Amino acid sequence: MRIIQCSQCGAEDLYQDGGFMVCRYCGSRFSLEKSDRAADSFVSVKSDVDELLKKCKQDPKNARKYANLILDIDPNNEEAYKYL
Ligand SMILES: [Zn+2]
Repeated sequence: MRIIQCSQCGAEDLYQDGGFMVCRYCGSRFSLEKSDRAADSFVSVKSDVDELLKKCKQDPKNARKYANLILDIDPNNEEAYKYL
């Protein structure tokens, strides 16, 4: 789930208006294009974690090292804790 937050006032109560998200509190408008890019970077972080988990399985000797890298990216990753 993606949380959209107003960068002007910090409110999380935004509504969609055409191609924009509009803050209910201060009225700031944000292009939806910007938040799509944020979603893309989230996906690429997830694939990095998947890649490192794969390495944990393929290279058990260094699994601990990879697990620590995963936890740097995603401190709540339960899979990574198994390799510590
Ligand atoms: Zn606002």
